[in-house]
Amino acid sequence: MPAFRPGWRGGGVALVLSLVLSSSLVPSIALGVAETVEPMAAPKSLPWMKDAQASLEVELTAKYGPAERLRAARGLAQVASLWKAADGDAAAFSAFVRKGYAGDAKTRDALFSRMEFAVESLEGHMLEVSRDFQKQAQLDLGEVYPFDEVMAGWDPGAHVRDDWFQNKLAFTVLLNFPLTTLTERLEKGDGWTRREWAEARLAERFGKRIPADVSLAMANAQADAEAYIADYNVWMHHLVDAKGNRLFPPKMRLLSHWNLRDELKADYQDPKTALAKQRTIQKVMERIVDQTIPAQVINSPNVDWNPFTNEVTLAAVNDSGAPAPVGLAPSNAPEPDTRYAVWLKDFQAYRKADPYSPAAPTHIARKFDEERQIPEARLNAMLETVLTSPLVPRVAKLIEKRLGRPLEPFDIWYPGFRAQGPLAGAQLDEVVRKKYPTPAAYQKDIPTLLRKLGFPPDKADAIAARIVVDPARGSGHAMGAARRGDDAHLRTRVAKDGMDYKGFNIAVHEMGHNVEQVLSLNFIDHPLLAGVPNTAFTEALAFVFQNQDLELLGLGKPDENARTMEALNAFWMTYEIAGVSLIDNAVWHYMYDHPEATPAELKQATLKASREVWNRYYAPVLGKKDVTFLAVYSHMVNSFLYLADYAIGHLIAFQVEGQMEKAGSIGPEFVRIATQGRVTPDLWMRTATGKPVGPEALLAATAEALAKVEKK
Ligand SMILES: [Zn+2]
Repeated sequence: MPAFRPGWRGGGVALVLSLVLSSSLVPSIALGVAETVEPMAAPKSLPWMKDAQASLEVELTAKYGPAERLRAARGLAQVASLWKAADGDAAAFSAFVRKGYAGDAKTRDALFSRMEFAVESLEGHMLEVSRDFQKQAQLDLGEVYPFDEVMAGWDPGAHVRDDWFQNKLAFTVLLNFPLTTLTERLEKGDGWTRREWAEARLAERFGKRIPADVSLAMANAQADAEAYIADYNVWMHHLVDAKGNRLFPPKMRLLSHWNLRDELKADYQDPKTALAKQRTIQKVMERIVDQTIPAQVINSPNVDWNPFTNEVTLAAVNDSGAPAPVGLAPSNAPEPDTRYAVWLKDFQAYRKADPYSPAAPTHIARKFDEERQIPEARLNAMLETVLTSPLVPRVAKLIEKRLGRPLEPFDIWYPGFRAQGPLAGAQLDEVVRKKYPTPAAYQKDIPTLLRKLGFPPDKADAIAARIVVDPARGSGHAMGAARRGDDAHLRTRVAKDGMDYKGFNIAVHEMGHNVEQVLSLNFIDHPLLAGVPNTAFTEALAFVFQNQDLELLGLGKPDENARTMEALNAFWMTYEIAGVSLIDNAVWHYMYDHPEATPAELKQATLKASREVWNRYYAPVLGKKDVTFLAVYSHMVNSFLYLADYAIGHLIAFQVEGQMEKAGSIGPEFVRIATQGRVTPDLWMRTATGKPVGPEALLAATAEALAKVEKK
């Protein structure tokens, strides 16, 4: 569930409310804007630049002393990497450097503190403006008119970065503070002072200078990908078997891949019909991945389709209510590799930013080194530890026993490790509705809820005072503030007759985000460090809250059995998403290695990567070789290397929860952990738990759970 984070600092992943290029605003940016036709020129190195850098390095060293040489050289190189001809000639460059270089501690301190103060104000106020303009679109406050959507789509910060390069404030930062690579942050960051960390995060905000036409191309590609995914439905009643049987009810229309997967999971509840339905869904997924899916069956209730034989016939039943088009000739001509064409267009657009991002010169580097801050090799090693764990066959055997049949590939989505709560759904809804008839009632209760979670009363009140509860139009999210003095917003759904249990469960999760947001902004030494290392961390903290929801309602602690089931469920989900992430990563490498690939070639590469991952990590446990359906994930096409965050999220959640348990109380530990801010994941986790990020906590919890269950 999303936590919105402000800023150009790139702390969030797909849900960042960015002042510069906001993926959440992308669809609206793309509306009505003609695609640019100008060629996108990469920055050329200027012929005079090398000499100018060298002589200025000598000059600055002479003026400020030999101890300044390295700093000066680094600052000059950073400015040079983003300086364009339009910024000025050699004389202008030299004049800027002489004026802008802070060569003594006093000037540097002044520059740093002015910047920290002003950047907080800028980001904080931009966020407030955006939030206000999005209010009607995001909150459940009555009709949304077309102008509300335009207001919501406006990004007040869109030109801020350009302005800062134009007046050279961005260059002033780059001249004086280090632009660090992930390797540097990992190797030296543990020894940095908090001020040094804040300086690194300040410089990082200006590490890219992506031209408007490139940003627009990225926004358009993102919008196209979203549109492709959002409009890819399968009409399930029209899936027929060899005898013409329809397994799924009329009108059921499932979006790929989320709805298809959720239906597959739900089908386990009826063992009589489950197998046939699940095998059918697996086949549909495979045909989406290998693009043998007939184009005619996508989004169409007018034809029947046997996914096994791939035969298409005119629909024998009408469940859509709309008349079938006249003269429709059934055909099983395949979707023409559109999925891969869309994916390639994402890549081609995102690659255009590479020359303007010297510190992270590929989308892969921007994803791993900047956003996630975990090197790809290390991440892959963690995923492999889970995938090759000796616990995998033991959990698989347990699932087999629970199902009473040999496992099939789709059992990778087995959802059956769930414990029954003390009350049934309807009773829970009743309890919650009484307690929280309005958003205001929930807001009023936050200080009490935080006390129940062990927060000291003064902290509970101070945190609660900074959280505003709003009625969400969608399912809910947490929007943090970006300047002290502004409030975090908790958005959740409250029906007319009050909040139901699902709404409460989400509200508690979002409240976890909000508390982290408030702590890491208002109770931290440097606002430039506000936040968490990456989104997986705020998710882990939010889940710590969410897992206490029944206790917060006064309905008791999660019992032993619930904890056992939670570990097994998380382990199986991590096992699944780990392989999916490896495929996603492999495909991005393929695209960078083969930038001229055709959609058909990308398809073959994706199928190959899917088979390899499957045969290596899944076939030994789930039978059957060469299964490709793991590549069905929509995120691959519209979220660009996001998937590994789910995997890391599970690992981190178990580490953080284990630490809370060890500490015995959530509140004080949460305050200690959440006020570290945006350092590297490993440094954050070592301060939090004594160990770097890793799968050990999840594996230990799983082993413990298995020991309990296997004994029975
Ligand atoms: Zn969340």
